[in-house]
Amino acid sequence: MNFTCQCCGACCRVPGYVALEAGEAETIASFLGMDIYAFTEQYALLTGNRGNLSLIERPDGGCIFIQDDNTCRIQPVKPAQCKGFPFQWKSKQLKAICPELRVGATGRAPA
Ligand code: SF4
Ligand code: SF4
Repeated sequence: MNFTCQCCGACCRVPGYVALEAGEAETIASFLGMDIYAFTEQYALLTGNRGNLSLIERPDGGCIFIQDDNTCRIQPVKPAQCKGFPFQWKSKQLKAICPELRVGATGRAPA
């Protein structure tokens, strides 16, 4: 799939879980220079099914780590869920808000 991210940050501002896989909380905590307990207390919560930790959201529903310039504060260690979009997964919700995927839906790239 040809895909050129426009770095608009829209996918990081959509309300929804950013679930953490095993070991990711420790990796992000280390990147931020935080103790794992302090990190989980400040930045994580349980998903509704109590099956995972997820990142907390801003009051408007966006990810806590999206910055004003649309960059990710934890880019080098962002969760696998984030790394996988849109190459390994996409949803109708995200397809609707991603300008590059919308272009694909209207006939230009991606191939
Ligand atoms: S962790 Fe980074 S890439 Fe993932 S949703 Fe948050 S800001 Fe976006
Ligand atoms: S919504 Fe699409 S174009 Fe915008 S940052 Fe996310 S992946 Fe890139």
